[in-house]
Parts: sequence; C-alpha cells; structure tokens
Amino acid sequence: MKVFNTLSGKKEEFLPQGDEVKMYVCGVTPYDDAHLGHAMSYIIFDVIQRYLKYKKYEVKYVQNVTDIDDKIIDRANKLGIPPRELAEKFTERYFADMKALNINKPDVTPYATDEIPRMLEIVQGLVDKGHAYPSGGSVYFRVRSFSDYGKLSHRSLESMMSGMRTEAGEEKEDPMDFVLWKASKPGEPAWESPWGPGRPGWHIECSAMSLKYLGNTLDIHGGGQDLVFPHHENEIAQSESFTGVKPFVRYWLHNGMVQLGEEKMSKSLGNLITIKQALEKYSADAIRIFVLSSHYRSPLTYSKEILEAAERGADRLRQTASPAITGNKGGRKIDVEQYRRRFTEAMDDDFNTAQAIATLFDLAREINKYDSEGVEADEARGTFRELSNILGLTFREPEAPPLEAELFAQVAASVYGELNRAGAPNEKQDAEKIIGNLIEIRNELREAEQWQQADMIRAKLSEAGTALVDTPQGTVWKRIR
Ligand SMILES: [Zn+2]
Repeated sequence: MKVFNTLSGKKEEFLPQGDEVKMYVCGVTPYDDAHLGHAMSYIIFDVIQRYLKYKKYEVKYVQNVTDIDDKIIDRANKLGIPPRELAEKFTERYFADMKALNINKPDVTPYATDEIPRMLEIVQGLVDKGHAYPSGGSVYFRVRSFSDYGKLSHRSLESMMSGMRTEAGEEKEDPMDFVLWKASKPGEPAWESPWGPGRPGWHIECSAMSLKYLGNTLDIHGGGQDLVFPHHENEIAQSESFTGVKPFVRYWLHNGMVQLGEEKMSKSLGNLITIKQALEKYSADAIRIFVLSSHYRSPLTYSKEILEAAERGADRLRQTASPAITGNKGGRKIDVEQYRRRFTEAMDDDFNTAQAIATLFDLAREINKYDSEGVEADEARGTFRELSNILGLTFREPEAPPLEAELFAQVAASVYGELNRAGAPNEKQDAEKIIGNLIEIRNELREAEQWQQADMIRAKLSEAGTALVDTPQGTVWKRIR
C-alpha cells in the first residue's frame, strides 16, 4: 500500500511501526456550524481508517476538539454568551453532522480544555530546554532553535518569514516565533500557569493531545492542506523539540480544499455551505460519493449539478444493494474477485477512491443485469455491500424529501382561501418562494395581532413538512421529517 507523504513530497510504501496504526486528525474549532470543507476532510479520513481496518490493521484514531480558541472567544463575545456555552453547542451540532454523514466516531476525542495540565507540562519543558521563552505573560516558541523548521511545507525561512506578523501587544524575540501560551485579557477564559493566567495556543493543543494518546511517534497525521503551514509545521517543531524523538509523524496526509466555482469555500468569502444545508437537499451517500469521486489531494468543486449527479448515483447503488429474490442460479456467476482486486488496487494506490467508486458502479451494473435476467447474484451483492461499507455508504433513503412546488402551491391556495385573499401563487413558482411569501403574510397578520390566522399558516406549513422558527433576525423555516 502506497501513500503520498507531504513530508517527503512523494508516494511511499506504508509501513506502520506496529500492528496498531496510530492516527491523529486535527478536529474542529466549534464556533460555528461545520461546512462542506469539514465534511470532505472527515469523510476522507473516515474512509482511510475503514480501509486500514479492512486490511486487518488495528487502528487507534484520535481526533481532538479545539474547544478554547480566539475564534470561540470572539464569536461568544459578539453573541454575549460564555465561550464554553458556544463551544458546547457547536460541538454537539458537529457530532450530529458527523453521525448524519455516517462518519465513525474516532476512538478517542480529547477536548483541549480537559488537557491543560499536559499542555503546561510541554510548554514548561520547551522553556527548560531553551526552545521557548516567556514574555509579557505569554510564552513563545523560538523557531530558530529548531533547525528542521520548514521541512513539512518545504519552505525557506525567508519565505515563511514574509507570512509572519506580530500581533499588537506581542513581545517576541523574532517575528517567526509563535505563541505557545497566551496571557489572557480580563474577562477571558483563563487557567493558572507559572507565567500568570492564560490559555493555550492552538498549535500546542494538538501536540499535547496527540503525544498523550498516541505516544512520541504517530503513524498518520491528517488534516486539510491549509493546515500544513503554519499549524502542522509548528506541531512538528514543538513535539520533536519536546520529546527529542524524530519523526513526530511518519506519514503526513493532507486533503485538498472544497471550491465553489473558481473560489475556495471559506468563511471569509462568505460562500460556505454547511453540512446541515447540504443534508437538507442531498442524502449522506450522495455527499460521500461527491467527496470520494475526486482524488483526496485535489481540489473538490461543488456544484448543484455535481451533487444531483451524485444523488442519482447513490440511488442506483441503493437499488443494487437491496436483494432481488430469485431461485435461478442460471449456471453462471459474477467474478467478484476481479472486482475486489480492482477496488483494493485502487485504494492501495494512495487511496484512489475515484477508481474504487468506479469499480463499485461497474459491479452494480453487472448485478443489475443479473437481476433483470432473473439470475441470482447474492454472492456478488454481498461483495458489493462489503466494498460499499469501506466507503461508508449507508444505502439509506434520503432523509428529507425535496420540496414540491405543487404541494406548497396547494398550501398557499388553502391559506389564501381562509383569508379571503386573491392571487394565490401557482405551482409554477418554486416552493421556497411560496414559503417566503407565506412567511410575509404571517408577519403582517402578527403585526395586526391576528394570532389565530398567523398560527393557521404555521400549522398548514407544518403539515407540509416545514417548521417555522422565529429568531431575533426574523422567521426562518426548516424541513421536518
Ligand atoms: Zn491540529
């Protein structure tokens, strides 16, 4: 089995240290809902751990939760709620998203705020060894004390330097240095430390949690390509300087980014699609097929057309998975070993899931042919299900049916009738528009204190599978099952 290692920049034979593969993937910072970029990364590493298990490896998979971070504090301050409350809410929502996408729970899920003592121990150790220094209540890593800095991102010190900046209030020896421990401002969450009250920096959190649960050398460390520099470069510097053991990680695996058209999907560009939004429209299998149909290191372009095609594909596979009843052996059978070989050869070549999926579709086509001829294909169907399971396909029906314009036009007609109002929207308008229109009417009724009629609209929409939720920003609707 070969994997592409970012550290060496090439495909290498995968040789773990022992029978148990020690695997760490950077987890979420729960300050908002997870989006398709998260779905891509966690689906890919889910498939990797499923495939390793299929290959009879033991796997210990650790994925952290960064439940203390500047982003959490900033957003909580804006919303006027405690950072812990915000983090807890979005952690819960994140795990619900993962479950809905049929992503297996990692073996260990450490929370940063539970691991502060271990972080302090590492920061102190780095200070003792001269790799770090306190300054103004914070502690910084002395980048020039680690001669291997840049080995993962293959950058020179000068090019990395140009990306560095010193934040206001930071007193660093060198602009390259990064924070390990941050002095906290009044009112911010803080833990006691030898340097005064503060909180851990993001990078040290991952070093502390991976070293604690997996030991000094990991087999696989994964994450998105946007984490290579500086996050993973810094993890290497901290971990190898602290333990004195090289390498910290044997195989660094990085996935590409999700794009919307030509642009990267990102919060700052405001073009994010959350997992929840995607799951309102598409099944988990369609999202998994969408992600796995490209190579994990390539950019993945989102479009409605591609997702719709993935949904049709998911539908075809689902039909193949359900058993056809026939007693006719037909004197022939499908060569399942040939398919299994194609599938594992693809996966052994740096997790070529696109080829693996193509193999599944070919196998499905052959099974369907047997079904249509009334010839039994039970064994092949078993293999088909087994290989599909490595890709985490569920074969569950999509949970929420699509909105039907006709149905909502009927709802509108009945609302207009009850209100003695003319001009109900017809079924040619799309359902979302009609719902928006009914929400407006309901708002007018509420302003006029016509509560009964306003509630009638809510009840009729609810019958059609849409719930109205009144928020401080206005009324929104969601699909209910
Ligand atoms: Zn990390």
